[in-house]
Amino acid sequence: MWATLLALVLGGVVLFAFRDETPKTQYFKHQGFVFGTYYNIRYSATENREEAILKRLDEFDKSLSTFNPHSTISVLNQGRDTVWDADFTEMYQCAQEINRLSHGAFDITVAPLVNAWGFGFTNRETVTPELIDSLRRVKNVLDASAIAKGQACDVVAQLLKENGSENYLVDIGGEVVLHGVNDQGEPWRVGITKPVDDPTGEKSEIQEVIASTDLCMATSGNYRQFYYENGLRRSHTIDPRTGYPVNHNLLSATVIAPSCMRADALATACMVLGVDSAMMLVESLPETECYLIYSPSETDTLAVIHTAGFPL
Ligand code: ADP
Ligand code: MG
Repeated sequence: MWATLLALVLGGVVLFAFRDETPKTQYFKHQGFVFGTYYNIRYSATENREEAILKRLDEFDKSLSTFNPHSTISVLNQGRDTVWDADFTEMYQCAQEINRLSHGAFDITVAPLVNAWGFGFTNRETVTPELIDSLRRVKNVLDASAIAKGQACDVVAQLLKENGSENYLVDIGGEVVLHGVNDQGEPWRVGITKPVDDPTGEKSEIQEVIASTDLCMATSGNYRQFYYENGLRRSHTIDPRTGYPVNHNLLSATVIAPSCMRADALATACMVLGVDSAMMLVESLPETECYLIYSPSETDTLAVIHTAGFPL
């Protein structure tokens, strides 16, 4: 009898001690700037992972940032040999695949053309057809900026997942990876921005809200960086097949894919391809959907076309 009582009491103590040691899961939220854009990261975890996330983003930057002269991509661009790290290799393989699938519309060797046109196409007065022609032949300078933000979302999401987080939303400059539910226990909600002329990003309006528990999504748009020429809006996306900025009526392309890296590259590819070819490309790919906003005429109206499986 006494032994049973003692066992019960001890059992209670053990149970109590055990319960007390069980770490509590809570939601964390980190915001800041990285790769010249913002990040907004939320996740459920038993402890704050901010330090590990920033360390991982720094490692990523050391691979793919063209602003860092010592990064893998910069060293290769300087014509020097270096070991391909895992982030670089992953980016390169995906970029090659999307280049092939898009018949050259997506091309990370477009950097010399991007530079020639200038940021915001400030050099457009001085660009000659001869210069464009010669730069189109330069294939040993790489620029991962149309794919890296998406890949960075994957990388952070992976880190959170490996550390046991079941719920997370990683948004880097509008590219998003999300999983599970938010701190209210509801599916995460993300918006597709209305492509109104908005160079500062301050007036941004939401066109569509998507609620999901599992999503990799990226948007490429010409509404933040563009200029007008002869009444035509030209974007910051270069058509590698011509060497000129694209100038069709597609204003923004949002792509859902199995990874955010892939979604990011495909969104840029769509911007180069234009509405019809973009729809054809995305419809041909498994587990891939798109939502395209375009201007059907010279007026201010917006029109939308999306693949059947886009989760609206
Ligand atoms: P955003 O998220 O800003 O809309 P994107 O993902 O479309 O951007 O990437 C645009 C950047 O990619 C450009 O600033 C340029 O550096 C580079 N770029 C431009 N055209 C292409 C292209 N056809 N293929 C790959 N990269 C490109
Ligand atoms: Mg992109």
